[in-house]
Amino acid sequence: MAVETSTFEKTALAGLYGPEDFGGLAHKNANAAVRGRITAEDRARALPMPSLEWTPEVERATAHLYERVKAVIPPVEWPFMAPYVKAINELKRERNAVILAHNYQTPEIFNCVSDIVGDSLKLAIEATKVKADVIVQCGVHFMAETSKILNPSKTVLIPDSRAGCSLASSITGEDVRLLRERFPGVPVVAYVNTSADVKAEVDICCTSSNAVQVVESLGSDTVIMVPDQYLAKYVASKTKVKIIAWKGACEVHERFTGDELRSYREADPSVQIIAHPECPPDVIAEADFTGSTAHMIDWVRKNHPQRVVMVTECSMADNVQAELPQIEFVKPCNLCPHMKRITLPKILDSLIYMREEVTVDPMIAEKARRSVERMINLKN
Ligand code: SF4
Repeated sequence: MAVETSTFEKTALAGLYGPEDFGGLAHKNANAAVRGRITAEDRARALPMPSLEWTPEVERATAHLYERVKAVIPPVEWPFMAPYVKAINELKRERNAVILAHNYQTPEIFNCVSDIVGDSLKLAIEATKVKADVIVQCGVHFMAETSKILNPSKTVLIPDSRAGCSLASSITGEDVRLLRERFPGVPVVAYVNTSADVKAEVDICCTSSNAVQVVESLGSDTVIMVPDQYLAKYVASKTKVKIIAWKGACEVHERFTGDELRSYREADPSVQIIAHPECPPDVIAEADFTGSTAHMIDWVRKNHPQRVVMVTECSMADNVQAELPQIEFVKPCNLCPHMKRITLPKILDSLIYMREEVTVDPMIAEKARRSVERMINLKN
């Protein structure tokens, strides 16, 4: 059943702020990271480059992995991927490393080299339970930072540190301090899609799965939510708490439109449409179900629709289709350019050279950890 349009579209935020509301503060990109060249130090600790030839041995060693992705990767492409897959899986053992892959990673990464898959929070929490010395984060920079915050003694690597996020880069810790000055005493909730600097300044973090619960847990009639204006609007439609929002948006989800979804329904009235709460209100109003990436996947597993439109980053539909090939996925293919910076060759590089290492200032990490752990410790 679609979210009630009239209720949702009329939902008003108590306020909507952006950097321009704070006197032209020079806004810096919280996620800016310069991708360094391979240094002499990197070379000193490098392992030998493995052979990347497609041989009968590689074919045999990776056949069981190809089975997992054959619904979404054509056979003609596999010989180019399989040598990397085999080499990465061997190097992981040598480095005592685990690979965490977000739901938006491409199928060969998600299904063939990763040890833990899921949304950003699940990845970071699960990483605290493994014995590996090294975490390779196949996702974007804020996710690698969250892993480092929760796993300070482990080496956290990201295959390309330029993998940013339009939400994380829309706000800085300084912006949060200015919001607090403007709204003294109002608690601040940060979506996990933020830098460590922002997490360190807020009261608690939230994910798209638990945002309503987190907001209501604070016992305040007004709450500031940063940085996603659409998630904030979605939460405002589900609670009596007044929400003051930041003007950030996900550049992938904000491209979807209600018109686009209506055209899918007109073409096939039986199609099921499920959307992520980072989408604009007119999109959510058209959806049969709205939920986080984890909730969307659970919904498809449970409901087994004949045809479904997953209104989110399009690699996720490929990954669910690899698991459930009997379901037809309509793919409005909006790719996240940041997630797509992570590739098999870059993961291999990461393990060979142990780069690019993600570090977080220990003082910031300690404060940020409190905000993340406060969320994790909330009772369900
Ligand atoms: S999909 Fe959107 S929220 Fe996720 S990393 Fe890309 S820009 Fe950020």
